[in-house]
Amino acid sequence: MELTNSAVEVAQPGTAIYMLHWGEHYERGSNGPYLGAAGLDFTALSADYRRERYAAAEAAHEDRCPLGEGDFQTWLVAKQILSPIASTDVEIDVRTYGNEYVPKHWPECPECSGGRGEQDYGDVRRSLNRIVVYHRCTECRHVWGHHEVACRSGEPMLEDDGRDTQGGCVPFSISKACGIDWKLAVAACAKHGWDSGGMSPDRAVVAARELGFELVRQRLPGSGKPNGLTLKSLISGLPRNRNYVVSVKGHWLALVGGAIVDNDTNSGLGRKVVDLYEVKAVQSAAA
Ligand SMILES: [Zn+2]
Repeated sequence: MELTNSAVEVAQPGTAIYMLHWGEHYERGSNGPYLGAAGLDFTALSADYRRERYAAAEAAHEDRCPLGEGDFQTWLVAKQILSPIASTDVEIDVRTYGNEYVPKHWPECPECSGGRGEQDYGDVRRSLNRIVVYHRCTECRHVWGHHEVACRSGEPMLEDDGRDTQGGCVPFSISKACGIDWKLAVAACAKHGWDSGGMSPDRAVVAARELGFELVRQRLPGSGKPNGLTLKSLISGLPRNRNYVVSVKGHWLALVGGAIVDNDTNSGLGRKVVDLYEVKAVQSAAA
């Protein structure tokens, strides 16, 4: 079989390079490349091939005449309809071990030479719309430049008002109901035993007093009812010009101007009210 690999020859007008394919699924086969005249009619050629092979088998008194795609190719080459073109098999690999794309617009690592900082993400504080972003070095894995950005871009990042602080419902509701800064509220509560597991109501009242506010326990309207008082019915009966701290089972929240201000716990309106405190400024502390 004479091979040609001349690029000049295969590029000549009126010729084409053919790859042949046949069969289906796991019996699918391919072979080539071959050079031949452009526009060959392989349906007509296979009919010619079949007729010739049948005639030869007839002449030889054969009982069978098997045809095959491999034999058809041999026939095409013997007829000089196609000629095989030498090809070179190569393995190609564009995997990038050690040559990863490191764009120049990534900042240079402050710890090593050559590394650059890829952006990575840290803690998410969804309710505050905040997520920590930082750089991680592509070489030495040093991390730096931690800062917070909005996780929902287009919406403002909220200041930390304690809404997502674990076990922070007491200082959160004191902060909101008294209108004082979260950090002040949580510091005062921590002084009186608050931690991420919460704190006792009695000591929360003391903490609030230190901040200048009296949490005055109220008699619950309709508290004699067998089903108790729900948050919803409590709110509907309270004046809107006062602020309250409400205790439901295992949780505190604030009522500010008639609206529930809850931390991320988001108590449902059906929660049963355990205690109600009206917020009053302590005269001596306020003076
Ligand atoms: Zn580095």
